[in-house]
Amino acid sequence: MAKIKFQTPSGMHDVLPQDQIYFQKIYKTIEKTFDFYGFEKIDTPILENADLFSRSVGVNTDIVEKEMYILRTKEGKDALALRPEGTAPIMRAYLEHGLNTYPQPIKLWYHGPFFRHERPQAGRYRQFWQYGFEVLGDKESVVDAQTILIAFNILNDLGINNISIRINSIGDENCRGEYRKALVKFLKSKKNSLCRDCLRRSKTNPLRVLDCKNEKCREILNEAPQIIDYLCDDCKTHLKSVLEYLEELKIPFTLDPFLVRGLDYYTRTVFEIEVPFGEEGEGGVLAGGGRYDILSKVLGKTNVPSCGAAAGIERIVSVMRARKLEGVYASLPKVFISQIGPLAKKKGLVIFEELRKAGIKATELFSKDSLKAQLSKANRLNINTVIIIGQKEALKDMVIIRDMETGKQSEVSIKEMVKEVKTRLK
Ligand code: AMP
Repeated sequence: MAKIKFQTPSGMHDVLPQDQIYFQKIYKTIEKTFDFYGFEKIDTPILENADLFSRSVGVNTDIVEKEMYILRTKEGKDALALRPEGTAPIMRAYLEHGLNTYPQPIKLWYHGPFFRHERPQAGRYRQFWQYGFEVLGDKESVVDAQTILIAFNILNDLGINNISIRINSIGDENCRGEYRKALVKFLKSKKNSLCRDCLRRSKTNPLRVLDCKNEKCREILNEAPQIIDYLCDDCKTHLKSVLEYLEELKIPFTLDPFLVRGLDYYTRTVFEIEVPFGEEGEGGVLAGGGRYDILSKVLGKTNVPSCGAAAGIERIVSVMRARKLEGVYASLPKVFISQIGPLAKKKGLVIFEELRKAGIKATELFSKDSLKAQLSKANRLNINTVIIIGQKEALKDMVIIRDMETGKQSEVSIKEMVKEVKTRLK
């Protein structure tokens, strides 16, 4: 039989306790933030029908074309995808449960694992965690500005500075067609100089060419027509208003005419928030989002104008760790219960529960009988209040409470124990 490999699948990773201190800090921060801004939590399944993503994210996007994990059920009828992103499932849930019949907008947030079969590298995993939020059923530009503000505030509250925000508008159904034509014409005129990826994309998804990181292509693309010059009046007014709100909020941003983002469902505002790469390879784009007024129409329903954002938790964690920012640590126990003898162990278990019910964090070493081993654990944890129960005390329903610093000990009944511990901990 082949040996088991003690290794996660390529591109996937364990979130170990030393990572959890940052994950927990992020969860606490987002929970508080979303509560303040009036968002409600939603969880959607890890698996969705694959066509939800091919229709909404777009068949010619990297996510759908190359990176989606698709599972077939035993009968082979259903193609289910491990969710590569969170927006399409939330729109599916909104439409499925008739959330459009409630007063609008509906504001939802989530966090959880997502899956993309990308080439694993620093900051790019095949299973990664995101948090995100969506405002569904609101077309106003103030929502776009608030989306950017919230995404920014969370990173700021986590202690991450040196953040930059890039914003663009990619127009809507009215004006994007004209721009696309102009861009395709330009790309055709440069076809001898562009990389193979760009050539392929200029046929399948020309806007994505603007994302190319190849330096030679970048030089050429700097000359490409800019969408901002093709925006219809409504899109122009929308963008201007989003930027005015951000200026009023004193949120720093730059306009990036080449920012398009990878997904088909975006309309008008798109943005990305990034920090410079650090010495340990941490940084880059931490969060991104935008408006997606046509997503529900693409899924076969009427328009639900919406806006949202998502952030990569691992990338944020690596920045927090490299910059030595604070995580959330478990609170330390205040009391240690030590026991000598079988009856004392039984009583110790009960005492442990009494302390739990009283909200006093305690700890123990019930699996060891030696008092020395037990007290050395109490010492290691820097616990000053130690409860000692021996056979004699157990028979009398008493315990000894020892102050480790002064060495002073007193005997109290188990009944009085919680009260006495509380007084000592004051
Ligand atoms: P996206 O849904 O592509 O806009 O991604 C939103 C955020 O999730 C990005 O800004 C990244 O921080 C993070 N992210 C996206 N893909 C990955 C990945 N493969 N591994 C780790 N983080 C990712």
